[in-house]
Amino acid sequence: MTTHPATLWAASNCWSLRRAWAAARNTNTSDTRDGIRSPVYGTRTSSGGHGDPTGDHIAADVDHHTNTARTIDEVRANVDQAWWLLASATRDTPMPTGPALAVMSRLIPACDPATAHEVTGYLDRADRALRRTLRLGDDHWPIPENPACPACGVRMLRARTSNPDSAQWPVICAAGCLCIGETCPCGMDVRQKRTVHIWPAAWATRTLDLTATEMEATTA
Ligand SMILES: [Zn+2]
Ligand SMILES: [Zn+2]
Repeated sequence: MTTHPATLWAASNCWSLRRAWAAARNTNTSDTRDGIRSPVYGTRTSSGGHGDPTGDHIAADVDHHTNTARTIDEVRANVDQAWWLLASATRDTPMPTGPALAVMSRLIPACDPATAHEVTGYLDRADRALRRTLRLGDDHWPIPENPACPACGVRMLRARTSNPDSAQWPVICAAGCLCIGETCPCGMDVRQKRTVHIWPAAWATRTLDLTATEMEATTA
């Protein structure tokens, strides 16, 4: 099956946000709003040697609390935008039930590449904001033997590991090279000018001669 890179990219960003969101909910510290928890707020211990928080610590907490609230608002606003775009682009697809991000994961393959591209912008902003607040890095793992990107030649191919199913991990070029269209040596199914380079897991298996099990072995 041919998948447009914009669709793969949107799906991958949706998984990344789902992972960050889950991390936010699972962070085992004090509640802030609506299940988003702070990784810092509840873990602070005593200060000043007597257990009373100093002014600096209180200020840091208030700052952090405000930042977390602001992040949640930012995530919500972006997810709402992505949701409406997707819902209107897939009006003919039966609406799945479930949590918003899970539903979006299911709708993305049914939307057109232009919408997928727009949806990615919103999901990416939400994901970055959340990961910044949680101090969570990207879900990127290096490819065994560090092969060169077929497009730019830089050895920075990474598997995006947010999807719990390792057989679905797409590969990206972390050097950020963009497709130059029909004459691009990237080997993507659809080569379209100025799209990011992202290859489906099947490409990695076929071209890089890797299996999901090998990928997982190197990341263990
Ligand atoms: Zn590249
Ligand atoms: Zn290309």
